[in-house]
Amino acid sequence: MGAVVVESLDAMRGMDEAARAEVRAVAYKGHHDFDAAEMALLPNLGVIANYGVGYDAIKVPAADAAGVRVTNTPDVLNDDVADLAVAMLLMQQRRMRQGDAHVRSGAWGQGAEFALNRKVSGRRVGIMGLGRIGRDIADRLAAFKMEMHYHARSEKQTPGWTYHADPVSLADAVDYLVVALVGGPETENYVSAEVIAALGPDGVLINISRGSTVDEGALLDALEAGRLGGAGLDVFRGEPKVDPRFQALDSVVLQPHQGSGTHETRAAMGQLQRDNIAAFLEGRELLTPVN
Ligand code: NAP
Repeated sequence: MGAVVVESLDAMRGMDEAARAEVRAVAYKGHHDFDAAEMALLPNLGVIANYGVGYDAIKVPAADAAGVRVTNTPDVLNDDVADLAVAMLLMQQRRMRQGDAHVRSGAWGQGAEFALNRKVSGRRVGIMGLGRIGRDIADRLAAFKMEMHYHARSEKQTPGWTYHADPVSLADAVDYLVVALVGGPETENYVSAEVIAALGPDGVLINISRGSTVDEGALLDALEAGRLGGAGLDVFRGEPKVDPRFQALDSVVLQPHQGSGTHETRAAMGQLQRDNIAAFLEGRELLTPVN
Protein backbone atom coordinates (compact mmCIF):
# COMPACT_ATOMS: atom_id res chain seq x y z
CA MET A 1 0.00 0.00 0.00
CA GLY A 2 1.61 3.31 -1.06
CA ALA A 3 -1.06 5.85 -0.33
CA VAL A 4 -4.15 5.89 1.85
CA VAL A 5 -7.10 8.26 1.85
CA VAL A 6 -7.81 9.44 5.37
CA GLU A 7 -11.11 11.17 6.10
CA SER A 8 -11.13 10.20 9.74
CA LEU A 9 -8.15 9.91 12.02
CA ASP A 10 -10.10 7.32 14.02
CA ALA A 11 -10.26 5.10 10.93
CA MET A 12 -6.48 5.40 10.62
CA ARG A 13 -6.03 4.48 14.28
CA GLY A 14 -8.21 1.44 13.63
CA MET A 15 -5.81 0.03 11.01
CA ASP A 16 -3.55 -2.77 12.20
CA GLU A 17 0.11 -2.05 12.74
CA ALA A 18 1.36 -3.89 9.65
CA ALA A 19 -1.03 -1.97 7.39
CA ARG A 20 -0.04 1.33 8.98
CA ALA A 21 3.66 0.53 8.41
CA GLU A 22 3.05 0.27 4.66
CA VAL A 23 1.61 3.75 4.33
CA ARG A 24 3.92 6.30 2.69
CA ALA A 25 1.37 8.94 1.72
CA VAL A 26 -1.84 10.25 3.22
CA ALA A 27 -4.50 12.10 1.24
CA TYR A 28 -5.98 14.18 4.03
CA LYS A 29 -9.38 15.87 4.09
CA GLY A 30 -10.46 17.23 7.40
CA HIS A 31 -10.17 19.86 10.08
CA HIS A 32 -9.15 17.65 13.00
CA ASP A 33 -5.59 18.07 14.20
CA PHE A 34 -3.05 15.89 12.39
CA ASP A 35 -0.26 16.13 14.95
CA ALA A 36 2.87 14.25 16.05
CA ALA A 37 0.82 11.46 17.69
CA GLU A 38 -1.05 10.71 14.44
CA MET A 39 2.16 10.88 12.39
CA ALA A 40 3.83 8.45 14.80
CA LEU A 41 1.15 5.87 13.91
CA LEU A 42 2.57 5.78 10.37
CA PRO A 43 6.31 5.08 10.74
CA ASN A 44 7.01 5.18 6.98
CA LEU A 45 4.91 8.24 6.22
CA GLY A 46 6.57 10.59 3.72
CA VAL A 47 3.85 13.02 2.66
CA ILE A 48 0.52 14.38 3.86
CA ALA A 49 -1.32 15.83 0.86
CA ASN A 50 -4.05 18.14 2.14
CA TYR A 51 -7.33 18.60 0.27
CA GLY A 52 -7.59 22.36 0.71
CA VAL A 53 -5.30 25.38 0.74
CA GLY A 54 -5.68 25.94 4.49
CA TYR A 55 -3.55 23.35 6.25
CA ASP A 56 -3.80 24.68 9.82
CA ALA A 57 -5.07 21.26 11.01
CA ILE A 58 -1.78 19.64 9.96
CA LYS A 59 0.93 20.53 12.45
CA VAL A 60 3.81 21.44 10.17
CA PRO A 61 6.49 21.67 12.91
CA ALA A 62 5.61 18.07 13.88
CA ALA A 63 5.81 17.06 10.21
CA ASP A 64 9.20 18.77 9.89
CA ALA A 65 10.43 16.91 12.96
CA ALA A 66 9.19 13.59 11.53
CA GLY A 67 10.67 14.28 8.09
CA VAL A 68 7.19 14.35 6.54
CA ARG A 69 6.38 16.63 3.61
CA VAL A 70 3.06 18.50 3.50
CA THR A 71 1.27 19.75 0.39
CA ASN A 72 -1.94 21.79 -0.10
CA THR A 73 -4.17 22.91 -2.99
CA PRO A 74 -3.58 26.64 -3.54
CA ASP A 75 -4.99 28.82 -6.35
CA VAL A 76 -7.42 26.30 -7.91
CA LEU A 77 -10.11 27.39 -5.41
CA ASN A 78 -9.52 31.16 -5.39
CA ASP A 79 -12.38 31.99 -7.78
CA ASP A 80 -15.03 30.02 -5.89
CA VAL A 81 -14.09 31.33 -2.46
CA ALA A 82 -13.95 34.90 -3.76
CA ASP A 83 -17.32 34.47 -5.48
CA LEU A 84 -18.88 33.26 -2.23
CA ALA A 85 -17.44 36.17 -0.23
CA VAL A 86 -18.95 38.67 -2.66
CA ALA A 87 -22.23 36.75 -2.76
CA MET A 88 -22.54 36.81 1.03
CA LEU A 89 -21.91 40.55 1.08
CA LEU A 90 -24.57 41.19 -1.56
CA MET A 91 -26.97 38.77 0.13
CA GLN A 92 -26.53 40.46 3.51
CA GLN A 93 -26.76 44.05 2.32
CA ARG A 94 -29.58 43.51 -0.21
CA ARG A 95 -31.41 41.28 2.29
CA MET A 96 -31.82 38.58 -0.36
CA ARG A 97 -32.62 35.86 2.18
CA GLN A 98 -35.51 37.98 3.49
CA GLY A 99 -36.50 38.97 -0.06
CA ASP A 100 -36.74 35.34 -1.08
CA ALA A 101 -38.91 34.60 1.97
CA HIS A 102 -41.09 37.63 1.14
CA VAL A 103 -41.92 36.16 -2.28
CA ARG A 104 -42.25 32.52 -1.19
CA SER A 105 -44.49 33.30 1.78
CA GLY A 106 -46.98 35.05 -0.47
CA ALA A 107 -46.52 38.32 1.47
CA TRP A 108 -45.49 40.16 -1.69
CA GLY A 109 -48.46 38.70 -3.60
CA GLN A 110 -50.76 40.02 -0.90
CA GLY A 111 -49.40 43.53 -1.39
CA ALA A 112 -46.88 43.78 1.46
CA GLU A 113 -43.97 46.13 0.71
CA PHE A 114 -40.41 44.92 1.01
CA ALA A 115 -38.24 47.30 3.05
CA LEU A 116 -35.47 49.23 1.29
CA ASN A 117 -31.95 47.99 1.91
CA ARG A 118 -28.36 49.18 1.37
CA LYS A 119 -26.34 50.08 -1.73
CA VAL A 120 -23.16 48.00 -2.07
CA SER A 121 -21.37 49.53 -5.06
CA GLY A 122 -19.13 52.47 -4.26
CA ARG A 123 -18.75 51.70 -0.54
CA ARG A 124 -15.44 51.30 1.36
CA VAL A 125 -14.08 47.78 1.79
CA GLY A 126 -11.17 46.42 3.80
CA ILE A 127 -9.59 43.08 2.92
CA MET A 128 -7.90 41.48 5.91
CA GLY A 129 -5.30 39.14 4.39
CA LEU A 130 -4.42 40.17 0.83
CA GLY A 131 -3.05 36.77 -0.24
CA ARG A 132 -4.22 34.62 -3.13
CA ILE A 133 -7.93 34.55 -2.19
CA GLY A 134 -7.96 38.02 -0.62
CA ARG A 135 -6.58 39.48 -3.84
CA ASP A 136 -9.29 37.80 -5.92
CA ILE A 137 -11.96 39.15 -3.56
CA ALA A 138 -10.40 42.60 -3.78
CA ASP A 139 -10.31 42.52 -7.59
CA ARG A 140 -14.00 41.64 -7.68
CA LEU A 141 -14.97 44.39 -5.23
CA ALA A 142 -12.80 46.96 -7.03
CA ALA A 143 -15.08 46.30 -10.02
CA PHE A 144 -17.95 47.34 -7.73
CA LYS A 145 -16.28 50.80 -7.70
CA MET A 146 -15.34 50.45 -4.03
CA GLU A 147 -12.73 52.42 -2.13
CA MET A 148 -10.08 49.75 -1.44
CA HIS A 149 -8.24 49.20 1.86
CA TYR A 150 -6.32 46.17 3.10
CA HIS A 151 -4.17 44.71 5.84
CA ALA A 152 -1.54 41.96 5.54
CA ARG A 153 1.85 41.37 7.11
CA SER A 154 3.48 43.16 4.20
CA GLU A 155 2.44 46.02 1.93
CA LYS A 156 1.65 45.06 -1.69
CA GLN A 157 2.04 46.78 -5.07
CA THR A 158 -1.55 47.97 -5.34
CA PRO A 159 -1.67 51.54 -6.63
CA GLY A 160 -4.66 53.45 -5.28
CA TRP A 161 -5.39 50.92 -2.52
CA THR A 162 -4.63 51.95 1.08
CA TYR A 163 -2.46 49.71 3.26
CA HIS A 164 -3.14 49.59 7.01
CA ALA A 165 -0.42 48.11 9.21
CA ASP A 166 -2.93 47.83 12.06
CA PRO A 167 -6.19 45.79 11.81
CA VAL A 168 -8.13 48.26 13.97
CA SER A 169 -7.13 51.12 11.68
CA LEU A 170 -8.36 49.05 8.71
CA ALA A 171 -11.74 48.36 10.33
CA ASP A 172 -12.10 52.02 11.28
CA ALA A 173 -11.64 53.12 7.65
CA VAL A 174 -14.25 50.89 6.00
CA ASP A 175 -17.91 49.85 5.75
CA TYR A 176 -17.18 46.21 4.96
CA LEU A 177 -14.42 44.01 6.36
CA VAL A 178 -13.67 40.78 4.45
CA VAL A 179 -11.42 38.31 6.25
CA ALA A 180 -9.17 36.11 4.07
CA LEU A 181 -6.36 35.38 6.53
CA VAL A 182 -4.72 32.01 7.11
CA GLY A 183 -5.98 30.18 10.19
CA GLY A 184 -3.87 28.81 13.03
CA PRO A 185 -2.48 30.20 16.29
CA GLU A 186 -0.89 33.33 14.78
CA THR A 187 -4.22 34.73 13.60
CA GLU A 188 -6.38 33.48 16.50
CA ASN A 189 -8.98 36.17 17.37
CA TYR A 190 -7.36 38.54 14.89
CA VAL A 191 -10.82 40.09 14.42
CA SER A 192 -10.97 41.16 18.04
CA ALA A 193 -13.63 43.06 20.01
CA GLU A 194 -11.68 46.25 19.15
CA VAL A 195 -11.75 45.49 15.41
CA ILE A 196 -15.49 44.79 15.59
CA ALA A 197 -16.10 48.01 17.53
CA ALA A 198 -14.12 49.97 14.92
CA LEU A 199 -16.26 48.50 12.13
CA GLY A 200 -19.30 49.85 13.93
CA PRO A 201 -23.11 49.66 13.77
CA ASP A 202 -23.24 50.23 10.02
CA GLY A 203 -20.41 47.81 9.29
CA VAL A 204 -20.54 44.26 7.92
CA LEU A 205 -18.04 41.49 8.57
CA ILE A 206 -17.54 38.76 5.96
CA ASN A 207 -15.45 35.75 6.96
CA ILE A 208 -14.35 33.02 4.54
CA SER A 209 -11.05 32.24 6.32
CA ARG A 210 -11.40 30.13 9.48
CA GLY A 211 -13.67 30.44 12.52
CA SER A 212 -10.54 30.86 14.63
CA THR A 213 -9.66 34.25 13.15
CA VAL A 214 -12.71 35.92 14.74
CA ASP A 215 -13.54 36.44 18.41
CA GLU A 216 -16.94 34.80 17.96
CA GLY A 217 -18.23 35.76 21.41
CA ALA A 218 -17.43 39.42 20.77
CA LEU A 219 -19.02 39.15 17.31
CA LEU A 220 -22.25 37.69 18.68
CA ASP A 221 -22.41 40.29 21.49
CA ALA A 222 -21.94 43.12 18.97
CA LEU A 223 -24.52 41.74 16.52
CA GLU A 224 -27.11 41.17 19.24
CA ALA A 225 -26.62 44.67 20.64
CA GLY A 226 -26.70 46.30 17.19
CA ARG A 227 -23.12 47.49 17.64
CA LEU A 228 -22.28 45.72 14.36
CA GLY A 229 -24.53 45.97 11.31
CA GLY A 230 -24.28 42.39 10.10
CA ALA A 231 -22.15 39.49 9.02
CA GLY A 232 -21.72 36.87 6.30
CA LEU A 233 -20.00 33.76 7.63
CA ASP A 234 -18.84 30.60 5.85
CA VAL A 235 -16.68 29.39 8.75
CA PHE A 236 -17.30 28.97 12.46
CA ARG A 237 -15.67 27.82 15.65
CA GLY A 238 -16.63 24.23 16.39
CA GLU A 239 -18.18 23.77 12.94
CA PRO A 240 -20.28 22.04 11.76
CA LYS A 241 -21.92 22.81 15.10
CA VAL A 242 -22.79 26.52 15.02
CA ASP A 243 -23.53 28.63 18.07
CA PRO A 244 -27.37 28.82 18.13
CA ARG A 245 -27.15 32.55 18.89
CA PHE A 246 -26.29 33.01 15.19
CA GLN A 247 -29.49 31.33 14.05
CA ALA A 248 -31.58 33.83 15.97
CA LEU A 249 -30.04 36.83 14.20
CA ASP A 250 -31.74 38.35 11.17
CA SER A 251 -28.63 40.36 10.25
CA VAL A 252 -26.42 37.40 9.37
CA VAL A 253 -25.97 35.21 6.32
CA LEU A 254 -24.75 31.74 7.29
CA GLN A 255 -23.08 29.25 4.95
CA PRO A 256 -21.89 25.66 5.65
CA HIS A 257 -18.15 26.13 4.88
CA GLN A 258 -18.81 25.76 1.19
CA GLY A 259 -16.36 28.32 -0.20
CA SER A 260 -14.68 25.84 -2.55
CA GLY A 261 -17.74 23.62 -2.82
CA THR A 262 -18.40 23.42 -6.56
CA HIS A 263 -18.08 20.30 -8.72
CA GLU A 264 -15.42 22.00 -10.83
CA THR A 265 -13.20 23.21 -8.02
CA ARG A 266 -13.46 20.12 -5.83
CA ALA A 267 -12.39 18.05 -8.87
CA ALA A 268 -9.40 20.35 -9.42
CA MET A 269 -8.46 20.15 -5.74
CA GLY A 270 -8.63 16.35 -5.80
CA GLN A 271 -6.51 16.26 -8.95
CA LEU A 272 -3.83 18.48 -7.40
CA GLN A 273 -3.86 16.38 -4.23
CA ARG A 274 -3.41 13.16 -6.25
CA ASP A 275 -0.73 14.78 -8.43
CA ASN A 276 1.25 15.71 -5.32
CA ILE A 277 1.05 12.15 -4.03
CA ALA A 278 2.06 10.70 -7.41
CA ALA A 279 5.02 13.08 -7.56
CA PHE A 280 6.12 11.98 -4.10
CA LEU A 281 5.77 8.27 -4.80
CA GLU A 282 7.65 8.61 -8.10
CA GLY A 283 10.44 10.66 -6.50
CA ARG A 284 9.59 13.83 -8.44
CA GLU A 285 9.42 17.38 -7.08
CA LEU A 286 6.18 18.13 -5.22
CA LEU A 287 3.83 20.49 -7.07
CA THR A 288 2.59 22.62 -4.18
CA PRO A 289 4.71 21.93 -1.08
CA VAL A 290 4.11 23.67 2.23
CA ASN A 291 7.33 22.61 3.98
P1 NAP B 1 -2.43 33.07 1.38
O1 NAP B 1 -2.21 33.36 -0.06
O2 NAP B 1 -1.33 32.45 2.16
O3 NAP B 1 -2.91 34.44 2.09
C1 NAP B 1 -3.02 34.54 3.47
C2 NAP B 1 -3.03 35.98 3.92
O4 NAP B 1 -2.96 35.96 5.36
C3 NAP B 1 -1.84 36.81 3.43
O5 NAP B 1 -2.27 38.10 3.07
C4 NAP B 1 -0.93 36.87 4.64
O6 NAP B 1 -0.16 38.05 4.75
C5 NAP B 1 -1.94 36.85 5.77
N1 NAP B 1 -1.31 36.35 6.98
C6 NAP B 1 -0.70 35.16 7.17
N2 NAP B 1 -0.22 35.06 8.43
C7 NAP B 1 -0.52 36.22 9.04
C8 NAP B 1 -0.28 36.73 10.33
N3 NAP B 1 0.39 36.01 11.24
N4 NAP B 1 -0.72 37.97 10.62
C9 NAP B 1 -1.39 38.68 9.69
N5 NAP B 1 -1.66 38.25 8.45
C10 NAP B 1 -1.22 37.03 8.13
O7 NAP B 1 -3.66 32.07 1.57
P2 NAP B 1 -4.95 31.91 0.62
O8 NAP B 1 -4.66 30.88 -0.41
O9 NAP B 1 -5.42 33.25 0.18
O10 NAP B 1 -5.98 31.27 1.66
C11 NAP B 1 -6.36 31.99 2.81
C12 NAP B 1 -7.18 31.14 3.74
O11 NAP B 1 -8.51 31.02 3.27
C13 NAP B 1 -6.73 29.68 3.89
O12 NAP B 1 -5.64 29.55 4.75
C14 NAP B 1 -7.98 29.01 4.43
O13 NAP B 1 -7.96 29.03 5.84
C15 NAP B 1 -9.10 29.90 3.92
N6 NAP B 1 -9.94 29.18 2.95
C16 NAP B 1 -11.28 29.03 3.19
C17 NAP B 1 -12.08 28.37 2.28
C18 NAP B 1 -13.56 28.21 2.49
O14 NAP B 1 -14.14 27.26 2.00
N7 NAP B 1 -14.20 29.12 3.21
C19 NAP B 1 -11.52 27.81 1.13
C20 NAP B 1 -10.18 27.98 0.90
C21 NAP B 1 -9.39 28.67 1.81
P3 NAP B 1 1.02 38.39 3.68
O15 NAP B 1 0.32 38.68 2.40
O16 NAP B 1 1.70 39.60 4.22
O17 NAP B 1 1.87 37.16 3.61
